[in-house]
Amino acid sequence: MNRKKELKLWERAKKHIVSGTQTTSKFPNQFIDGVYPIFAISAKGSKILGSDGKEYIDYMAGLGPNILGYCDPVVNAAVRKQLKRGMTLSLPTLLEAELAELINETVPSMELMRFAKNGTDVVTAAVRVSRLYTGREHVAKCGYHGWSDWHCASFWEPGTPRAMREYTHEFKYNDLESLENTLKTYDVAAIVMEPQAIERPKPGYLLGVRELATKYGAVLVFDEVVSGYRLALGGAQEYYGVTPDLTCLGKAIGNGMPISVVGGRRDIMHMMEEHVFFTMTFGGEALSIAGAIATIKQLKTKDYNGHIWRLGDKLLEGIEAAAKEFGVPGVSMPGSAPRNIFVVDPSVPDYRGVKDLFYQEMTKRGVLFPNIIYTNFAHTDEDIDHTVQAARESFEIVAKNMNNIDAALEGKRSMLLFGEVLKKA
Ligand code: PLP
Repeated sequence: MNRKKELKLWERAKKHIVSGTQTTSKFPNQFIDGVYPIFAISAKGSKILGSDGKEYIDYMAGLGPNILGYCDPVVNAAVRKQLKRGMTLSLPTLLEAELAELINETVPSMELMRFAKNGTDVVTAAVRVSRLYTGREHVAKCGYHGWSDWHCASFWEPGTPRAMREYTHEFKYNDLESLENTLKTYDVAAIVMEPQAIERPKPGYLLGVRELATKYGAVLVFDEVVSGYRLALGGAQEYYGVTPDLTCLGKAIGNGMPISVVGGRRDIMHMMEEHVFFTMTFGGEALSIAGAIATIKQLKTKDYNGHIWRLGDKLLEGIEAAAKEFGVPGVSMPGSAPRNIFVVDPSVPDYRGVKDLFYQEMTKRGVLFPNIIYTNFAHTDEDIDHTVQAARESFEIVAKNMNNIDAALEGKRSMLLFGEVLKKA
C-alpha cells in the first residue's frame, strides 16, 4: 500500500478511535512518522508485515507477549481446537485447573491464583488484597505497573483523584534506603516492583527488599508481567532466587493471547475468596487459557531461554560495537538479553535526534527497532546478523549527520518516548 493510502486509512482510524489506536506505544508519533509503516498487516515468527508492504524483523514482539514468535503453530493449534468448543462459556472449563497446575509447577511463589486479562488487572488486584490482608492503605511502588488509579496517582496524574496521590509512594530501584524511608514514613500495605525492569538488581538488593518487607509487615508484590517466563521459566524470582508474597504475570504467558495472572501465598490469596471483589466476564475466556497452556508446555521443554539470552547478548554486543566502530557516542543497551533498551546518553547533543535518525535508517533496512527490545525464541542468528549489519550502516549515516540531523530525517521526529518515561518512573 502506498503512503497516500496508509494516511487515508489512518485518518479513518482517527475519526472514531481516540488517538487512532489502543496502545500508547503504538501511536505513530512514537516512531519516525513518514518512515515507519503505520499499520501491521500480519506477522509470523520473528517478522512483521507492515502496511507499506515491507517485511521487518520485529523486536517489539507486540510489546512483549510473543515470546515464542508470532503465530506459533502449537499455540495456534491449541487455540483453534478450543475455538470449536467455545470461547467464553457459562461455567468454568477444565482448562483452568490445568493452567493453574502448570503455573504452580513453574513459578516458585504461585500457590493460589486467579486469571485476568491485562497486567493492570492483576497488579491492581494484588494491591487490593494486600490492603485487606495488612489492614493498611499505603503502597510503596517502583516503576511502571499499568494504567490504574492507584498507580497513575504517582506516574501520570491527570484524571486520577487527588486523594489517591496520598497513598502511592515511589521509591528508587536498587536503593534500599529509599525503600526503608518509605516504609518508616507510611504504614505500607504492599511493596510493588518489578524485580528487574531494565537495570539489573545490585547483588543482595532483592534479598534486602525481601527482608525489609518482612521487617515492616508489608506484602511483597513482584510485578513479573514482563519478566515472568521471559527472564527465566520461573521468572525473575527464580533467576535471582528471591520469593515474593504475591506475583503478577501477563504478556509472555499466552504468547499473544490476552491473559494475566495474580497469585502467591495461600493465606493472602485466600482472602480474595470471600472478601475481595475481583471478578470479570472474560476471566475464564477459554481460548487464552488454551493458548497459555500450549505456551507454557513448550517453554518447559524447549531451551527457549538459553536461545533468548544467547541471541539477546549477541544483539547488544553487536549494536554497541557498531556504534563504537563509527564513532557514535553515548550508545548503550544497559538491560539484559530478554528485555533491553536502546539508549543514547542525554549528554550527547540532540540525543533524541540521534536515536530518531538511527531508527529511521534501521527501518529502511528492514528492522523494526524500538526503544524497548524483546529478543524471542523465533529470532534466528540470521536475524541478529542482519540487524547488526543494518546497525553498522545506520550508525555510519548517523555519524555523518550528527550536526545536521533534521536534514537527514525523512519523517517527523518522534514525540514522547515511552521508554524514557519508564526510565524516569
Ligand atoms: N506491569 C508491567 C511491568 C508492565 O510492563 C505493564 C505493561 O507494559 C503492565 C504492568 C501493565 O500491563 P497491561 O498493559 O497488560 O495492562
